[in-house]
Amino acid sequence: MQNHAMHTLDLLLALDKPIPRYTSYPTAPEWGSIGPEEYRAALKKVTGPVSLYFHIPFCRTMCLFCGCSVVLNRKVETEERYVDYLIREMELVCENRKIPVCQLHFGGGTPTKLSCELLSKLMSEIRKQFDILPDAEIAIEIDPRTVHEDRGEKLHLLRELGFNRVSFGVQDTNEKVQEAVRRRQSYEVTKYTYDLARSLKFDAISLDLIYGLPYQTVETFSDTIAKIIDMRPDRLSLFSYAKIPWMKAHQKAIPDETLPSTEEKFRIYLLAREELLKAGYKAIGMDHFALPTDDMATKPLQRNFQGYTVLDVEDLLSFGITAIGYCQEGYYQNVKELDTYYSLLDRGVLPVFRGKVLTEDDRIRRWVIQRLMCDFKVDKGQFFSRYNIPFDSYFAEELTRIQPLLVKNDSFSLQATEQGSLFIRNVTSLFDYYLAQKEGHKSFSQAI
Ligand code: SF4
Repeated sequence: MQNHAMHTLDLLLALDKPIPRYTSYPTAPEWGSIGPEEYRAALKKVTGPVSLYFHIPFCRTMCLFCGCSVVLNRKVETEERYVDYLIREMELVCENRKIPVCQLHFGGGTPTKLSCELLSKLMSEIRKQFDILPDAEIAIEIDPRTVHEDRGEKLHLLRELGFNRVSFGVQDTNEKVQEAVRRRQSYEVTKYTYDLARSLKFDAISLDLIYGLPYQTVETFSDTIAKIIDMRPDRLSLFSYAKIPWMKAHQKAIPDETLPSTEEKFRIYLLAREELLKAGYKAIGMDHFALPTDDMATKPLQRNFQGYTVLDVEDLLSFGITAIGYCQEGYYQNVKELDTYYSLLDRGVLPVFRGKVLTEDDRIRRWVIQRLMCDFKVDKGQFFSRYNIPFDSYFAEELTRIQPLLVKNDSFSLQATEQGSLFIRNVTSLFDYYLAQKEGHKSFSQAI
């Protein structure tokens, strides 16, 4: 695989242009102003079971590669106040209805930066406002450093609160890389957290890695991958460093000359992929790997703002600053500043400020994009059964632009080739109506 893929490197490097990750379609730059009344009307149609997302934006320090929505904070009062407002937001969304929930996710920021008391308070309020189904997936993103510093107390508590899935930020175990991105997290801290999570019998343990960071080479990253394989997590995400300094100014502190070249970055990805496949992991979607026994390897995939999931849920209700949710009508995003969030909730107003109500064309393309991102393939018969339109005639113009090296097209299906599956964002972007309208844009990270 590695030799074959490198053989076509010249062509593939030509594909390294800014492309969305397609956690939504239409993508966020296409959204416009949406008010609380529109969101309230959409909420009235929600019956569940739904997914819930809580954004906990606080971090103690800023990792230089970070692309998340983060508030640097060391004051517990700030976090207490934020949790109180999350509870107010839930009250406004629920309006005394107990909507059933099959999936709950705490993301950030660093959700485990909240104290044990605040985590307990928030979880108990969620259970009061919503009907959490007995087999719900309850997941949280964990910074291992926060687990290590209290000798595991928080991880024990999370299990007692009903969390059954955890994902740990690791990114890279190499000290020079960690120093360059200002995320100092020893391998011992990661291993301690992982072993404790295993002993507490979380259902699915996932680790996050990033390739393309400063000073990474094939050699350094192969050492990281060996250590990770040794731990044997159920799932792994292997994200490309998304360099977007025009949106995340702190990334400018990473000098360009310390970053691996595009070619080296691609080699690092291929090395990691090959090692993981050799170790028995199955490649899932664009950037995930899972053990063959894990749900992700055995069930149909879907894609949402947290990446890949096996639950096919129509509605995602999201809480907190910058949080993005969707209902069948479309996408809705909360305001980005804490003060605005608080003052809207003080007035009893849902803190939504923008989003996108989907057109029929958006829905059709969203389905095609989802299938490509999840299965690397679109079944034309399935497309016809859903929309009663022949795929080839609806996408006649797009099909004139497909590259045979990346896509195999016949009367039954459209499928990414082996090379195309490495560049699935490029293949997918062919069906993005909005992207086609604006060549030369710079809203997204590079494809590689
Ligand atoms: S990578 Fe995680 S811990 Fe680091 S700043 Fe971003 S959200 Fe915080």
